[in-house]
Amino acid sequence: MLAVRIVGNGLAAHVLAQTLLGRNIEVELFAADLPGSASRAAWGLLNPVHLKTRTLTYGANHFDKAMHFYRRAEQQLGQSFLKPVRLRHFYRDEQDAKMWMQAWQENLHRHVVLKANCVEVLQAGSLSIPTFIAASENALKKAGMLRLGLAGEAELLGSPKEQWVVWAQGHWAAQSGLFGWVPLRPSAGVQVEWKQEPSAFQAIVQHRGYFYGQDPVNSETHRFGSTYSWSMEAGYQTEGEAELRQAMAAFPELKTAENLHFRMGYRPASGDRKPILGPHPAFSNHLFFNGLGSKGLLMAPEMAELTANICVHSNREIPAELDIRRFYKRYKSST
Ligand SMILES: Cc1cc2nc3c(=O)[nH]c(=O)nc-3n(C[C@H](O)[C@H](O)[C@H](O)COP(=O)(O)OP(=O)(O)OC[C@H]3O[C@@H](n4cnc5c(N)ncnc54)[C@H](O)[C@@H]3O)c2cc1C
Repeated sequence: MLAVRIVGNGLAAHVLAQTLLGRNIEVELFAADLPGSASRAAWGLLNPVHLKTRTLTYGANHFDKAMHFYRRAEQQLGQSFLKPVRLRHFYRDEQDAKMWMQAWQENLHRHVVLKANCVEVLQAGSLSIPTFIAASENALKKAGMLRLGLAGEAELLGSPKEQWVVWAQGHWAAQSGLFGWVPLRPSAGVQVEWKQEPSAFQAIVQHRGYFYGQDPVNSETHRFGSTYSWSMEAGYQTEGEAELRQAMAAFPELKTAENLHFRMGYRPASGDRKPILGPHPAFSNHLFFNGLGSKGLLMAPEMAELTANICVHSNREIPAELDIRRFYKRYKSST
């Protein structure tokens, strides 16, 4: 079998590369570092509970599989990047506390514990996505499987028909000639990092809508965020920074934070908020792997597994809600 070609240098591309390598399938990864990558700005939380709506999050049923994948990747790559974490949401007011009690009784009792002033998620993980990507890149480089630079569609469309090409380009797919018809609706997000003495208190907390905590690999790196906006304007970074500075000012313990480093990325969300996987209608050896939105860590291992099944067994059984075929009508009307 020819090496599977993968385009992209984010979470999607590297989770797929490590999944294929774990099945002894060679890969060739075409990697460029374009500014605005979601994976470079992400918080890195693996959390099955949606704290805003007090429900299980989309993809919560893949939590165990995802944790297992990243643990195995740590062993494969000889690098640690994942930590189980105590994740707490502080009640906004009495009404919020009451609603949590109701959600706990109805469907969350196996996922959260209620405390006097907060709710704690029983199983959650914190993962340094940049550390995972760097370790994966390193391994691919050593194996001669990494091609640095922008992959061109003209070049890859010339790939032999028996060679799989997987496009994992994040929000840049919206500008692509091959997959530009797939409805992506990216959302911009900014988070901020700074260095300070590690704290003995290792939890990640959500308070007044923002997460705050330490990096799982470098405990002196502290993080606060993220913002959420549908804006695709480059100027949004300034707005996001201003929002975070203002939000931080309400936390007395963050007043000493200095040398703030802001990062912005675009979550590659799809039109219907579900990931998108499957073949191009006309070039069936070209697969689309995208739409991870804000649930990249939970969904990427499941998507990679399905993609590997396609590449190895030509098994095209993709759950309908993830299948790119739900958008084929748009392709027809675009041609
Ligand atoms: C602020 C913020 C916070 C987040 N927090 C979390 C979180 O806590 N938990 C969670 O699960 N998710 C989180 N997310 C979402 C998560 O980051 C994304 O779901 C995930 O990173 C998407 O990965 P991706 O590889 O699809 O896209 P990206 O990370 O955007 O990667 C796409 C890559 O493709 C490369 N590329 C594009 N075109 C080409 C080409 N022609 N040739 C070569 N390379 C190319 C780009 O350079 C880029 O490296 C967050 C996102 C943001 C922005």
